[in-house]
Amino acid sequence: MYKHTFLILTLMLSLFSCKKVTKDPNEKLNVVTTTSMITDMVKNIGGNVIELQGLMGNGVDPHLYKASEGDVTKLVNADVIFYNGLHLEGKLEEVFEKMRHQNIKTIAISDVIDKSTLISSEYFASSYDPHIWFDINNWKLAIQFTTEKLKEIDPKNAETYEKNSKAYLAKLSTLQQDILQKITSLAPEKRILVTAHDAFNYFGKAYQFNVVGLQGLSTATEAGVQDVQKLAAFIIEKNVKAIFVESSVPKRTIEALQAAVKSKGHEVTIGGTLYSDALGNPDTVEGTYVGMFTYNVKTIIDALQ
Ligand SMILES: [Zn+2]
Repeated sequence: MYKHTFLILTLMLSLFSCKKVTKDPNEKLNVVTTTSMITDMVKNIGGNVIELQGLMGNGVDPHLYKASEGDVTKLVNADVIFYNGLHLEGKLEEVFEKMRHQNIKTIAISDVIDKSTLISSEYFASSYDPHIWFDINNWKLAIQFTTEKLKEIDPKNAETYEKNSKAYLAKLSTLQQDILQKITSLAPEKRILVTAHDAFNYFGKAYQFNVVGLQGLSTATEAGVQDVQKLAAFIIEKNVKAIFVESSVPKRTIEALQAAVKSKGHEVTIGGTLYSDALGNPDTVEGTYVGMFTYNVKTIIDALQ
């Protein structure tokens, strides 16, 4: 299936060179994004002056995501592609590499973040934890970077991008204040966040949470029985009240953990579902970055309080 997609991509890329010449300069900039976090960001910056297509919807796991034939068409027709990078979109990396060789603008938003501030990880080929959006300061840098790239590529709308970007950054500053206020109400010893996979390390670093993921940083490897037993012992030792399911990861792993705690004669509740690698339904508040963050923090605080 993947090989087949790749063949189509190669074929379409050869047609692409003809298409590029015929592009009408008055047409809207055609932007393609990968994760729903990036789609929401670009939507906020580009507003109605761009044509925007996000590849990954709600509940989609970027670690496992493969490009469909429809995606390949979207990618080939894009004026610019924004993606997370740091091997978050592990299975698309090869496709992006190919695009880059064909001079399609392919931009990894994580490129802007100083490597010294990234969390190291042995699990990714990049050597870094790719879940950068859970530190709002990182996301602000990514917004500024994306804005600059859009201004460069589409200078006629530079003013719009700049204006939208400023307004969005202000929203994120308000979000930061709100979150800090909520988290301060939770005692430091209660700040233990157990989730399906290690998506929340940047969140933990920013707000002093001890973060433990059952599946490690990527969902590509399943948790073993030993991992479950070890984590169950940790939960009992630290007297953790609640553990969390993630919207983009099957909940059976967290349920297995809950059962393991129970088998040792203890109780741990499932504190709710957190949005980790994808936003909520686009028609809901949680379908935005700001809404997702607010919801996650409320869910965590309510369950651990
Ligand atoms: Zn992840």
